[in-house]
Parts: sequence; C-alpha cells; structure tokens
Amino acid sequence: MTQPHLVIIGSGMAGSRLLDEIIRRQPERFKISVFGEEPHPNYNRIMLSPLLAGEVSKDEIVLNSHEWYAEHNITLYSGERIVSIDRSKQRLLSSAGTEITYDQLVFATGSRPTSISANGQHLNNIFDFRTLEDVDSIIASAQSSKHAVVIGGGLLGLEAAYGLAVKGIKTTVIHRAEHLLNRQLDARSAEMLRLSLQERGIETLLNTEVEAFHGIACVQSEALSSITLKSGKTLDADLAIVAIGITPNTLLAKAASLEVARGIVVNDQLVTSDKQISALGECIEHRGETFGLVAPIWDQARILADRLVFNVQSDYSTTATPTKLKISGIDLFSAGEVDGLQQDRVFVLQDETRRVYRKLIIRNQHIVGIVLFGDVQDGNWYFELLEQQINVNHLLPTLLFGQAFCSSLQQTTDTPSCESADHFFSDTENQPHSALTGATL
Ligand SMILES: Cc1cc2nc3c(=O)[nH]c(=O)nc-3n(C[C@H](O)[C@H](O)[C@H](O)COP(=O)(O)OP(=O)(O)OC[C@H]3O[C@@H](n4cnc5c(N)ncnc54)[C@H](O)[C@@H]3O)c2cc1C
Repeated sequence: MTQPHLVIIGSGMAGSRLLDEIIRRQPERFKISVFGEEPHPNYNRIMLSPLLAGEVSKDEIVLNSHEWYAEHNITLYSGERIVSIDRSKQRLLSSAGTEITYDQLVFATGSRPTSISANGQHLNNIFDFRTLEDVDSIIASAQSSKHAVVIGGGLLGLEAAYGLAVKGIKTTVIHRAEHLLNRQLDARSAEMLRLSLQERGIETLLNTEVEAFHGIACVQSEALSSITLKSGKTLDADLAIVAIGITPNTLLAKAASLEVARGIVVNDQLVTSDKQISALGECIEHRGETFGLVAPIWDQARILADRLVFNVQSDYSTTATPTKLKISGIDLFSAGEVDGLQQDRVFVLQDETRRVYRKLIIRNQHIVGIVLFGDVQDGNWYFELLEQQINVNHLLPTLLFGQAFCSSLQQTTDTPSCESADHFFSDTENQPHSALTGATL
C-alpha cells in the first residue's frame, strides 16, 4: 500500500511534538516531510532563556538531531521556507526551489515577535528574542555591552533581562503597563517581583514606551547608543531586546486563501478552511483564541495525531494554563484570572518581609484565579482544584494556607475546623480584598 504524504510546515515545538505523537501511534502511517525555515533540526525554544543566562549549553537544548530524522524515515528540509502553496494541485514550493505535493498538509508556522513602531530600528545591537540565532547574536553583543534595555515586561522580556543582568550588564526593563507581568500578576505581587528583580540588577520603568533608538557611527554601520522614551527620558543603551509580544505567522496561509483572523482559523478538530490542511501551535486561532505557551500545543498535537493517524475525531478545547517565570530564585505561579469580578470572594495572604503573596479568587464556590509569589509549593494543588472545577466551599478560608494545612485540619478532630479560622478574614466581595497581612506561611 502506498503511504499518503504528510507535509509539515514548521519544525518548531508544535511541528516536532506532532511528529512524536504520530511516531508513537503508527510510525509507518505516512511518508513524512518537514520544512523548517531555521537552519538546524528542532530545539527546545523554551530553553533559550536559560541558554541566554548561561545555565545550559546549545547541545542540551537540541530535541531531535539529523540522525533522529533519518532513523525515523522523516525528510527534514532545514533552512527551507515554504514560499507558496497551490491548493488546487496540493503542491508546495520552498525558498530553495523544492517542489513537493502533499496528501495532508499541516501548518505549524508558529509566531514572530511583534514589532514596535519606534524610529531607528535599523541600528546594530537591537534584537528579537525568539530563535537560536537571536540568542547567539545577543550573547556576542553582550560581551561588550554596558547598558542594556529590554522593551517589554512580560515573561519573555523579564527572562531576557535576567539573562543579560547575570552577565553583569546594567539592565533596564521598559514596560507600557502599570505593573510588570500585568497578565499574570496583580499590582501587589508585581511590586514584589519588581523588588526581587532590582536585587538582581534589573531596573524597571513602568507606564512608558520607546519613542526612538539613537546611534553612533562605527565601522561600516551605526550602533545603538541611547533610547528616548515617550515620557521624554533618555537612557544610555548599547544593546536592546524587543519582547513586547508575538504575532501568529499567517502570511503564507493568507496567500493560499485560507481563512485567517488573528491566526489561521481552525475548527475543533484543528482543520483549517481547507479539509486537507490542518494547523496547530502559535499560528492558529481556535474559537477566537491564540496561544503562547506549550501546554495547549501538546493537547493539540495529541488530538491532531489521533485524527491524522486513526481518523479519531476528538474536539480540542482550551483549558487554563499555569505560568511560571524561569528566573532562578524568583518563584511565581499564576493561573486563571488575576483581578476577578466585583462579586467574587478574594482571599489574600501577604507577607511583605518574606516577600510572599497568595491570592485566590473564588466565584460560585470554585477557584477561578490563582496568584502566588515567593512560595509556590501549593500551586499545582490549587491548579488541580481550578482545572477540575472542585467545589472548595468547605475548605474556605483556610484554603489559602495550602494543602498540608487543609488536610491536617480534616484529619485532626481536636484542631479547629476550617470555619474557626474565619476571624482571620473579612469574607467580603472583591474590593476591598480580604487580606491577612504580615502572616507567616
Ligand atoms: C525565549 C522563549 C522562552 C519561552 N519559554 C516558555 C516557557 O517557559 N513555557 C512555555 O510554555 N512556553 C514558552 N515559550 C513559548 C514557546 O516556545 C512557544 O509557545 C512554542 O515554541 C510555539 O511552538 P510553535 O511550533 O507553534 O512555534 P515555533 O516553535 O516558533 O515554531 C515555528 C517554526 O516554524 C518555522 N516557520 C515559520 N514559517 C515557515 C515557513 N513558511 N516555512 C518553513 N518553516 C516556517 C519557524 O521558523 C519556526 O522554526 C517561550 C518562547 C521563547 C521565545
């Protein structure tokens, strides 16, 4: 029997996870070809942050070598970008001139860093933080850098800032919002984070944006020397990283007249507007949502592999994903909502001295938001309660003290009941938050 030809565009995290899932199910089901624009086999993109910080080596972040592809009879066209698709002939053309036909096509083209609108971006030493090449260039430039600026105070921006600060470079993060990690933390926990970063040599400028990059002439080019902010302030800077967000890579899909909104639109089975073409990862839009973390992509890869290999049609649905920051010594855990609604019950435990913060948002007796800073050991337990939509009413308000405390209360009959701890909390609706300030965990 001839094998149908499966072609995957993109050999990043999503494309390679899909390969793993297919191989695990039925390695001989398809003849497989993979096109990857980057000039090497796939690597663990998540580990670019520890690579920049000097905590791992390049070899340690490789996921699959060229030999691995050969062993599994998968043809990898690395360094080849697909430039056009003829859907009527089910044919692709690559930047190297390779022409290939497919029976099933998968888009796993990921996303690219969102660009900013400031002047002067042609200058040397302004980088994105997305690929191995970016990290190589940043590391080379960092060797002679004294003042670095990172634009964007989200997870990526802060990890980039840390990677520079550990090299002894004075580093400043410029963030447009009122506080750092504004999608993961509330104002109080973000302030704890700001202080912890400051101790690591990272300064933060909030509520501001870059107006322009300025340079000085050097051999054959112009190098970055300073940055002006919209607030009017000027900062010395000889290295800048732009990490303000990501934009799904949809141009190829658009050119092939597939339905595209913010991402390539897929249905619950991850099929695009052409039934021979599927898509997964950061390039897609599913029910109005786009993606920026690997956990949902792993679910997508399983569902897509089941359909492609066994024709099993299961529906993909988005679930909450916890986020963490990969900066050693700074523990935070966030999932679900950060601020909640007016009618929610919000339990907060805050210890300024130890820089520990816990916040749980409860709606209709279920956890809908978790923000932990400084002590995250109960993060996974809270997340299970959130994910499985467990009714937590019987655990309130001591839920805030964590799993060990709650189970010890349940096991010991002569200890106070959960309810007896009620006096610690003003069990009010959101605003003002019920708070236990200065408590020790
Ligand atoms: C520094 C960094 C740290 C991160 N840390 C975390 C973390 O801690 N936790 C977490 O969950 N997520 C993290 N992420 C996000 C995570 O890496 C992404 O969610 C994941 O890589 C998305 O996978 P993807 O395959 O959709 O996209 P990508 O991994 O970007 O892969 C897409 C690939 O497709 C290629 N491509 C695009 N167009 C074409 C074309 N036309 N032809 C051929 N090839 C093409 C691209 O070159 C790229 O190699 C991090 C990301 C970065 C950059």
